[in-house]
Amino acid sequence: LLFFFFFSDWITRALIFLVVSCPCALVISVPLSFFGGIGAASREGILIKGSNYFEALSKVRTVVFDKTGTLTKGNFAVTAIHPEEVSESELLDIAAAAESFSHHPIAESIISAHGKHIDKSRFGEVSEIPGLGVKAVIDGKTVFVGNSALMANSGAAWRDCEVIGTTVHVAVEDQYMGHIVISDEIKPDAKIAIAKLSAHDGTKIVMLTGDMKKVSEAVAGELSIDEVYSELLPDEKVAAIEKLLSEKPEKSTLAFVGDGINDAPVLSRADVGIAMGALGSDAAIEAADIVLMDDKPSKIARAVEISRKTMLLARENIVFSLSVKALVLVLGALGLANIWLAVFADVGVTVIAVLNSMRSLIVKRTSA
Ligand code: ADP
Ligand code: MG
Repeated sequence: LLFFFFFSDWITRALIFLVVSCPCALVISVPLSFFGGIGAASREGILIKGSNYFEALSKVRTVVFDKTGTLTKGNFAVTAIHPEEVSESELLDIAAAAESFSHHPIAESIISAHGKHIDKSRFGEVSEIPGLGVKAVIDGKTVFVGNSALMANSGAAWRDCEVIGTTVHVAVEDQYMGHIVISDEIKPDAKIAIAKLSAHDGTKIVMLTGDMKKVSEAVAGELSIDEVYSELLPDEKVAAIEKLLSEKPEKSTLAFVGDGINDAPVLSRADVGIAMGALGSDAAIEAADIVLMDDKPSKIARAVEISRKTMLLARENIVFSLSVKALVLVLGALGLANIWLAVFADVGVTVIAVLNSMRSLIVKRTSA
C-alpha cells in the first residue's frame, strides 16, 4: 500500500508537468499580439506586410527620406518659363508632350499646367530615365526633358536659372529650347513627423534626393534634417544607403521612405522600406515592407509607436507565461503544487496572455 501511495504521487507530479508544459499561452498570444498590431496600424492607414517588420521598426535609429513626393507634396506649380528660340507656350507644348507618358510628379504638374490635348500619334519611342527625366521621339525628333544631367546626355548647352526651384530643361536633339522652373510645397505634417522621430533616442534623419542642391538644402533647412545628399542618380541612392547602413548604431535598423520607381532598389535594400501608397509608383509599393495609404509622413512616427507597443506586449507575454510555468514546474517537482494550480498555469495563463495581446489593438497616441 505504501508503495502504491508513493507511485500515485509521482503520477500526479508527472501529470502536473505534462499540463504545465503545454505551450498554448505562447503559441496563441504571441502571434495574436502581432495580429493586433497589424490591425491597429491598418485602421490608421498603415499597411504592414508582415509581423517581422515590427521588430525591425521598433529598433529604427536612422530614418532616410526621399524628397519629392515623400516630404514634399509632389504637386508642383510652374513659377517661371524661360524659353530660348521658341515662345513660352511652344516650350510648354514640347515639355508636356514629352512628359505625357510619365507618371512622375514633375510630369503630372507640367501636363496639368499645359492643360491642352496632346496628339499621341506624333510619338515614336518614349523612355523615362529614372532620376534624370524623359526622352521622347516626337515628329521624328528626339526631345529631352529633365535635369542638367540629362542635358549632358543630349549634348545641348543648357543654362542655369536664378529663380529658386526645380529647373526642368528642354532640348530638341542637341538644341537647347529653354527651361521651366517649378516649385513644390512641403507637406504640412512633415515637420511634426521629423520632430517626433528625432525625439526618440537621437534618431538620425537623412534626406536623399535626385533634385538640385539649392532646392534640397532649402527643404532640409526648413525641416531640420541632419544630413542631405542631393543630385543623386538611382544607383547613387543605393550607394548612399549602403554607406548609411554601415554607419548606423549597432543593433539598430535603418528605414527608408520613398515614392518613385527610382526608389524601389533602395526600398528593398533598407532594413525597413516604407512607400507612399497614393502618390507612390507601383514599383515602390511592391518593393516596400510598409505602405502609407494617405502619404502622410507623420504616420511613420505612428508606425514606430505601434511597433514598440506590439513588441513590448509580445515580450510581456513570453516572460509572464514562461515564468509562471517555470514556477509551477518547480513547485510540482517538489510536490508543492496540485493539479488545479497546473491547470491555472496552462489555461489561466493563456487567457491572461490573450487578454494582454488584445491591448495591442488599442495603442494610445502619445500626442498630436
Ligand atoms: P526625388 O529623389 O527627390 O524623389 P527623383 O529622383 O524622382 O526625385 O527625380 C530626380 C530629378 O530627376 C528631378 O528633380 C528631376 O530633375 C529629374 N526628373 C525625374 N523624372 C523626371 C521627369 N519625368 N521629368 C522631368 N524631370 C525629371
Ligand atoms: Mg520621389
